[in-house]
Amino acid sequence: MGAIANYLQFLKKIDLLRTIRWILAVGISAVLLYLPLDYFEFYLYDLRVRLRPPPPISQQIETIIINPVSVQAFKGEPTLKEHLQLLYQLQKEKPKVVVYLINPNEISGTISEKAQFAALAGTFSGFYFLNNTDDLLMKGEVERLDLPGPLKSIKVLTGPITVDSKVFAQDGVTRRMMLTYQGNILFHPYIASQLIPERAQPKNIRGSFEFYDSEQAYIDMAPAKSFPKTNFVDVVRANYPIQRFHDTVVFIGTDLGKSTKEYVKTPYSRSVTAMTVVEAHANMLNTLIQNSSPRKPPFWVEALLLFLLVVLSVEVVLAMKPIKGLLVIGLTFLLLVIISFVAFWPFGLWINMAHPILGIFISYYFLIPYRLIVENRKSWELFQKNKLLTQVEELKTNFMGMMSHDLKTPLARIQGMIEIAGRDKNPLSEDQKKALKSIRQSTDDLLNLISSILNFSRLESQGAHLNLKSKDINLLVEEVIVKCTDLAAAKSIRLVKDLEPLFSVKLDPDLIRQVIFNLVENAIKYSPDNSEVKIKSEEKEGMVRVIVVDQGMGIPADELSKLFMKFFRSRNAKNSNIKGSGLGLYLSRYFVELHKGRLTAASEEGKGSTFVIELPT
Ligand code: ADP
Repeated sequence: MGAIANYLQFLKKIDLLRTIRWILAVGISAVLLYLPLDYFEFYLYDLRVRLRPPPPISQQIETIIINPVSVQAFKGEPTLKEHLQLLYQLQKEKPKVVVYLINPNEISGTISEKAQFAALAGTFSGFYFLNNTDDLLMKGEVERLDLPGPLKSIKVLTGPITVDSKVFAQDGVTRRMMLTYQGNILFHPYIASQLIPERAQPKNIRGSFEFYDSEQAYIDMAPAKSFPKTNFVDVVRANYPIQRFHDTVVFIGTDLGKSTKEYVKTPYSRSVTAMTVVEAHANMLNTLIQNSSPRKPPFWVEALLLFLLVVLSVEVVLAMKPIKGLLVIGLTFLLLVIISFVAFWPFGLWINMAHPILGIFISYYFLIPYRLIVENRKSWELFQKNKLLTQVEELKTNFMGMMSHDLKTPLARIQGMIEIAGRDKNPLSEDQKKALKSIRQSTDDLLNLISSILNFSRLESQGAHLNLKSKDINLLVEEVIVKCTDLAAAKSIRLVKDLEPLFSVKLDPDLIRQVIFNLVENAIKYSPDNSEVKIKSEEKEGMVRVIVVDQGMGIPADELSKLFMKFFRSRNAKNSNIKGSGLGLYLSRYFVELHKGRLTAASEEGKGSTFVIELPT
């Protein structure tokens, strides 16, 4: 029982929304990991290959090409005779390895020339015919691909050109090489190991991976025409810097443009003649010599990266403000691109970009509509609430208006009764007189309150209309002071005026008089007996000002910001027995602002307050 209760407790504690987001992120990542995005990923791989500086080229690789120039010189494709001449010339150079990409059996010539060719080949420290085709020797097959007849002594090696036609990107581009097949070492590592012995072991080759029954590696491809090239005819005629081929691996092949088999597509170009097969092999060998095959990080690293990016995107979409979210997504995307490019060059690390990019976009585009729905619902709810509040507010104002109106009549009757009682023939006792005075005072207060509420309701529903007249504001101040004299005298408060002579201003005298009266009345109301209320007028910076300063209770600092709100009464005012509705200042500010003026207040609790009316001249 306890365990279940604990579990329920735990369930209550976890943040449900956050958990859903994480589950969503795991789900999206898992689905993405199983999506085959090879085409897109290889496209991004090619982009990285193209944009980095080309890889270094080994000085030990040379190519000899039969191209249209050579065909023209020999008035036809070179025959065995010319090939023999080539080999004689090469023999002098002492290359390390000679690799024929042309099948010697298919070169036209006599049997004796073939025998001569084979004999001459035997004099080189390494001489191979490289069988380019996909026809690999199976385990147990030994001689099937050997050359026939007199050429049998020439060693045949297999090193197929792999093309991504049915696997990987399926775009016909050459990006990989085969290192072994059924455990047998193939051409490229075999030759590389003659230059660097440890390359004989595929496990020593960076980035090697298993694929079906073979071990393979990606080619660190250089752009076309990166490798030194000599025309066949130039070698035959010794028309090249002598010793050029000394101690090198020499590939001999064609660039005649007769067949697509002579060429491969590369990450640099999808054109059918993007790079000669000769150069593709040179690239493969070069990759092994430099040991610079691009490698991939372990699967879990890529899965983790994907998951983190998806989590981030989901969080951003569901929890951030749209603009900020977009910025964060954009920056993350940029960071991913930068990291992938920097990792590829110079570290040869090929980080999967396709899945993370798709992850970011899927999270973004699938979740945005969801977020929109949620936000729409929220704003609809707010709208409804707002509507309700407006209705309640209207109801309240109407109700107050009605109530105040209906209260006025009984109050007037009470006041009438007080009059009658006061005029009674029988003299009243002192206590009765006191009671009557107190009743009159209270009814006066109540009537004041009711009339301000009534005024306020009327203003709220009809608005105030300005009745502008040119008027000296000092006259209004004087009128207010006269009106307040009794009020001040009752508390022995000195009303001190300090009025600057002013030009007349266009204003509504009734409204502004009411504002000034309100401020002076408040100053007297909220001040102790025997204090001073100062009323100043002045003109400054194109504004006429009336300033009312008192030495009263002041307003607590934390309440100052609410001073001009409807029905606001400060703590200290509410705690005292000074009556008020909290409407005077609200209306005063409203009236002043109708004149495009300002009403401001400064106050210090216990010391006094200053109210300033500013009106434009
Ligand atoms: P009322 O005076 O009827 O309560 P007002 O809108 O005129 O309403 O004033 C709102 C509140 O501001 C008052 O209740 C009081 O707390 C405070 N107040 C206004 N004037 C002064 C003043 N001169 N000194 C201290 N407090 C003031």
